[in-house]
Amino acid sequence: MGKWNFPAKGAHLDRVDGVYFQNMTGHEVEERLQKNDLLIIPVGSTESHGAAQPYGEDVFLAARLAELVAVETGCTVTQPVWYGSHPQNQLGMPGNIIIPEDVFVAYLRAIIAGFWNAGFRKQILINGHGQEEVIPLALHGFTKRYQVPAVLVSLHWWTPIHTHLFDKEHGGPFETPFRHADEAEASYSLALFPEMMQMEHAVDNKPGGFIPGDHVDKGGDVYHKPLRGHEAVGFGGIAPITYPEGVLGKPSLADPEKARPGVEAFLDYLTRLINDIMTTFPVGKLPPMDKVTQRSADEIDRVVKGPLQGGQHIYTLAYPP
Ligand SMILES: [Zn+2]
Repeated sequence: MGKWNFPAKGAHLDRVDGVYFQNMTGHEVEERLQKNDLLIIPVGSTESHGAAQPYGEDVFLAARLAELVAVETGCTVTQPVWYGSHPQNQLGMPGNIIIPEDVFVAYLRAIIAGFWNAGFRKQILINGHGQEEVIPLALHGFTKRYQVPAVLVSLHWWTPIHTHLFDKEHGGPFETPFRHADEAEASYSLALFPEMMQMEHAVDNKPGGFIPGDHVDKGGDVYHKPLRGHEAVGFGGIAPITYPEGVLGKPSLADPEKARPGVEAFLDYLTRLINDIMTTFPVGKLPPMDKVTQRSADEIDRVVKGPLQGGQHIYTLAYPP
């Protein structure tokens, strides 16, 4: 039995318990920033996940994982980003609320800038959706524009635990390979928010493609195939035509016990990442200014100090973010 206790009894999303930034007062955030200035931003999507699983599944996966680690480490979580960027094959599926890539990246840059200005200069964006190639652009765009010291991370929850997502043939726990809304994703959801799942309605299908040869990876690119899912077009059909069920595979095989070791491994990894960041750069400390930017020390000092402590806000350097 590990130290992690899940599923939690209800989310923290609307609770007053010091987990979510938006649920805290100015006084509480001021106190938090004296103790821990690392922020987790869950980034998901609103997307069809079939008859048995909620539209916000990708958000809840990221948020529930973030909540467990925040309680353990003392960091803060922001209310999630509910809408995301989608690969071309998901276009047109009812319930997929698709934000264009440029709008989405600009939105994330603005969120990063806002929280940097609020004093959270260490930020981990936990991704729960197939937008791996888009989110990192926000980190780099923010940093190129502002050139201020920060620690920014884009972490897809499946990447540090990719072997836990394998099918049995590759030594993992699942009958079928990890794909959108399938056996594996539904198992993780059952482990983390069973109250939102209605598995009696699960409908399976058999995903197929056009080009043989095992070139393109599947969900989360966990098998490290030559082409990641986002790196090929024309190898398969679009969702409303080829998988109108909203799933790719066999959610009926989902079982929370198949996900438990992977959930625990992810929570352990995220805890280690946060501890390593906070040990290297304790509260109030940032990567060395003279190594990460060529802006003048005076300019950086002013924005690091911030608008209410005799300095300036970050937008004095550039706007829009
Ligand atoms: Zn999903």
